[in-house]
Amino acid sequence: MKAGVWYHPDFSLRGHSVLRDRVEPAFNAMTDLIEAGKIGLFTPAITQETEELLNQCHSARHIAMVKAEHYHDVALLSAAGVVEAAERLATGDLEFAFCFVGAAGHHAGYDRFWGFCYYNDAVMAIKKLRALGIKRVMIIDVDPHFGDGTRDLIGADPDVIHVNFHSGSWRIVEDPELNNYDIGLGSGGDSDFIDALNRVLSRSWDYEILMIIFGHDSHILDYGGFALTEISFKHLAEAIKEFAAGKPVLFILSGGANPEVAKTVIPMVIKTFL
Ligand SMILES: [Zn+2]
Repeated sequence: MKAGVWYHPDFSLRGHSVLRDRVEPAFNAMTDLIEAGKIGLFTPAITQETEELLNQCHSARHIAMVKAEHYHDVALLSAAGVVEAAERLATGDLEFAFCFVGAAGHHAGYDRFWGFCYYNDAVMAIKKLRALGIKRVMIIDVDPHFGDGTRDLIGADPDVIHVNFHSGSWRIVEDPELNNYDIGLGSGGDSDFIDALNRVLSRSWDYEILMIIFGHDSHILDYGGFALTEISFKHLAEAIKEFAAGKPVLFILSGGANPEVAKTVIPMVIKTFL
């Protein structure tokens, strides 16, 4: 499979203080794959287009507030990588991509942000995909926190299927008209997560490109909910690969702080797709 990873040293040097310590150890754990030529290494760069996509997704007030918190550059660089990866997938250069980030995106809405998220990388990439003629996108957000920013930005667009796992109380809420699906797993655990994921993936969905919002804060040794082990991460990767059946897959790193978790689960996920 033609695969690429997006990484920049600034993600660990200047990334959000909670998220940054896991980035470099996880990247170093997969340098053997890069050196063996099994996956391409890409370094993101901010361009005029990145700035334009940012302005299409977030208000001027929002951007000014992020600049005041001094995470503007690293958040935009993170999103730039996701946009570049989406473009390479859309044009067929790649079939699989994994994007490291220095700040996450799924809590960034049009005019508000929280939870270590500043700019919505996935939605900026969707804007780019639309310009390339890709209409139907499926997002599966397996970060245990509710992807409220993404829902704010694309919830009203039925051509984006938004499947949103979260650790709120055990409850499934479906809006097939707008293609929004919220799966509350409560405290979770491997079997509940795997059962719920399998139920989603067993259905028929109409999409051209698949994005996974990959938060490993769902790991039992990390700070979020779900209390998952490696069993779930391995299943996630294998099940997504089978589900995508050759359609392009873009993994976007989201929450997670524990370097030991990151350097185990990230290479594990990537190797599944190679
Ligand atoms: Zn999270």
